Amino acid sequence: MYAIGEFVASIGDVPVIEDGAEIRLRSRDNFAVSPLLRKALAGKAADLIVAPRDVAELRHVVRQAVRLRIPLVPRGGGTANYGQSVPLAGGILLDLRGLDGIIWQRDGAVRCGSGMRMDLLDAALRPRGWEVRIHPSTRKASTVAGFIAGGSGGMGSCGFGMLRDRGNITALQMLSIEAEPRSLELRGRDVELVHHAYGTNGIITEVELPLAPAWDWREVILGFPDYLSATRFGLRLAKEAGILKKLISIHEAPAPSMMRALGGLVPAGMTAVFTMLAPPTRDAADDLVAEHGGTLISDHAEGAGPYGAPIYEFAYGHGLRQIQKSHPQTTVLQGMFPAEGLAESLARVHRRVGHAGPMRTELFLSDGEVVP
Ligand SMILES: Cc1cc2nc3c(=O)[nH]c(=O)nc-3n(C[C@H](O)[C@H](O)[C@H](O)COP(=O)(O)OP(=O)(O)OC[C@H]3O[C@@H](n4cnc5c(N)ncnc54)[C@H](O)[C@@H]3O)c2cc1C
Repeated sequence: MYAIGEFVASIGDVPVIEDGAEIRLRSRDNFAVSPLLRKALAGKAADLIVAPRDVAELRHVVRQAVRLRIPLVPRGGGTANYGQSVPLAGGILLDLRGLDGIIWQRDGAVRCGSGMRMDLLDAALRPRGWEVRIHPSTRKASTVAGFIAGGSGGMGSCGFGMLRDRGNITALQMLSIEAEPRSLELRGRDVELVHHAYGTNGIITEVELPLAPAWDWREVILGFPDYLSATRFGLRLAKEAGILKKLISIHEAPAPSMMRALGGLVPAGMTAVFTMLAPPTRDAADDLVAEHGGTLISDHAEGAGPYGAPIYEFAYGHGLRQIQKSHPQTTVLQGMFPAEGLAESLARVHRRVGHAGPMRTELFLSDGEVVP
């Protein structure tokens, strides 16, 4: 359908993958969590994968694709879970992980290549005393640009808000898709033109982010007698601006026992709250737990818990993934609650639909309000 042969001949030694099986495999993302998307996206694949090693190569690739009118789908780690990086009309899957590396880091800020993996970025920053403010639960595979183009928030959002909140993305450099591609620098509110646009209006090539001080986070799992008492605690913790936290993730029974990797750590019938807490304000957090009738179930350094993965791989999108390992037919109905009358609306929804399955609640800040 497209002039793929002519395209390949026109891009010199830019790496390509032409093997059909490999292309089909890499044309998928994690849409299989949804039975509806499984059906809608079956068989969709690119014709070719192209992996430019720098912006100059990318620019050349875009120029040739525009000339030959071949669709381009940008892709980072391919962890999107709603089919955002699946080529719907064939064409070229652009593997952008080659655009990596830190360009500069100073004064609590970093500028890096858009294809840099989020865990590698944090690993490079930590010895300098800094960490990325917000990362998704897919940190070990997802790229900075994939998170900005396709994601919304995650670990750190209970302190800093969502990616779209002011100040969380400083600047983006992007390449336009046109006969002579232009490099554009977007700063301030202009970054919103590209954030969460799924790569439909250009390709992000560089990202500038503010950083946070790196803490030795503790993964603390707490137990509460029921969902509503756990929710009251979680909402209070979210509002305590002085307590340093990176995650507040509530899992009503029996969700924790459905996560095989937890190995029965959470006693049956208990609602668990997975948190990440920083040592300097730990005493204040512990007081809050006691005041709300919570008990300590486990407390480990980040990534060192007996459940074989960092605790954030049991929260956000990973919560369902853990459950599906042993309950493949289970899925989620996802909702976001308005900030007004939060405790009451959570209780009302729990009363009305709680019989259908356990509630799982991630608490974060959005537009300055605590939102689940
Ligand atoms: C189990 C699971 C858990 C998840 N948890 C979270 C979470 O906690 N928070 C969250 O926000 N999301 C989450 N997600 C969704 C997704 O993993 C994240 O948004 C992730 O950051 C995407 O990064 P990626 O590099 O894998 O992007 P990809 O999947 O490769 O791409 C995502 C989107 O960005 C576009 N894109 C990629 N690179 C570029 C670029 N350079 N320029 C322009 N567009 C580009 C793609 O076309 C696609 O539309 C989860 C997904 C799964 C499967």
